[in-house]
Amino acid sequence: MLKKSFLSASVALATLASSAAFAVEHIDLLIKDATVLTMNADKAVYENGVVAVDGNKIVAVGDESLSKAYQAKTVLDVDGDIVMPGLINTHTHASMTVFRSLGDDVPDRLHRYIFPLESKLVSRDMVRIGAQLGNVEMLKGGVTTYADMYYFEDEVAKTVDKIGMRAILGETVIKFPVADAANAEEGIQYALNFIKEYKDHPRITPAFAPHAPYTNTTEVLQKITKLSLEHDVPVMIHLAESERENEVIDERSGGKSPVEYMADIGALTPNLVGAHVINVDDHDIELLKKHDVGIAHNMSANIKSAKGVSPALKMFDDGLRIGLGTDGPMSGNTLSTVDEFNQVAKVHKLVNKDRAAMPPIKVIEMATMGAARALHMEDKIGSLEAGKLADIIVIDTKAPNMVPMYNPYSALVYSAYASNVKHAIVDGRVLMQERDILTVDEDKVRQEALQFADKVRETVIASGEEVR
Ligand SMILES: [Zn+2]
Repeated sequence: MLKKSFLSASVALATLASSAAFAVEHIDLLIKDATVLTMNADKAVYENGVVAVDGNKIVAVGDESLSKAYQAKTVLDVDGDIVMPGLINTHTHASMTVFRSLGDDVPDRLHRYIFPLESKLVSRDMVRIGAQLGNVEMLKGGVTTYADMYYFEDEVAKTVDKIGMRAILGETVIKFPVADAANAEEGIQYALNFIKEYKDHPRITPAFAPHAPYTNTTEVLQKITKLSLEHDVPVMIHLAESERENEVIDERSGGKSPVEYMADIGALTPNLVGAHVINVDDHDIELLKKHDVGIAHNMSANIKSAKGVSPALKMFDDGLRIGLGTDGPMSGNTLSTVDEFNQVAKVHKLVNKDRAAMPPIKVIEMATMGAARALHMEDKIGSLEAGKLADIIVIDTKAPNMVPMYNPYSALVYSAYASNVKHAIVDGRVLMQERDILTVDEDKVRQEALQFADKVRETVIASGEEVR
């Protein structure tokens, strides 16, 4: 009894002493003197702003006065640079960096060139080497979270774990024999094992990735839908992308569009993220909204392949979950979301014949909060707000192309290069400082990719194609 009262008295004394002597909170990281673009609901911007981080979370965002409330182990004075949420790439195939720029202008390239090339070269090694390079490229371009669809995703997961980024990784399911599965059923099993292994990882979300509606059967699409709901994991798919898809689905369903067909078979759910979504009409858009489907908008890939322009602006304005993606490096050809900004803004203006159709702030929203919504992660990432995960990038505003800066959103969309990204923080950890990646050896990553490229070159020549 005596002991207990002594104990509570000493606790009370200690509390009194700390509040009187230093009314500051001890945290890990304080970013100050920043042009903070919060991307919160009010789109608050703080000049001379401050972002306070403790552990893997943001604890406060505000103006200068906030810095007095914190004592940080590390203080990052960014001298007016832009501090914003890390960019989110909603659709890519990171491992394909080793194939970048091959067969760029081959007609029907996916079926005539890419699938045959992949059947010869995709392996655990290729997936790891390509993903390492993709990760470095993305992080150096300010991407802190990405959504990937490929084979051997457990190899991609190891590379993401190592570099420290955040990712949704979807294991491909397709009806043809591929490197890691003889058929769709084996692909589903591979995905299930991967999901079990990574379900509780703090930064990696495992997922199913049926390649497309027309490259899978109705039964397989339905089975994946059911399993994704049971395991509560995302499903990523290429959707309403190509003429070939339209033809196959039209024939299979007796005249339905790919989106109508997916709705009919019960495959449109809030777990689904559709990439491209080009060939859709108003009814399709209503269905996607009704089923709360996420959408990845990949402008540079779509215009390069001449497949068409997705009505992404209408979908965004109608309140659908939509964010920017780069698609794979054979399509884009970079994994730079910053390079998408400019093209997204300009093409939607052109299509709408309206200079004001796509204001820069909307483009930045589609790269941050919009992308977080597309991946159903808006409660965790996408904006700088207290309680959210600390995924933060700093953009150099002293680079010649960024001077002067009257409107930070315009500067980002029309003037910025990916190389203007100076620092990147993921989950509260600084992964890139002054463009130096701290967690992996960039030179080694490049060397491994170059070695693999020799093998790619030999394989392409042996198959009778030109390396171009
Ligand atoms: Zn793709």
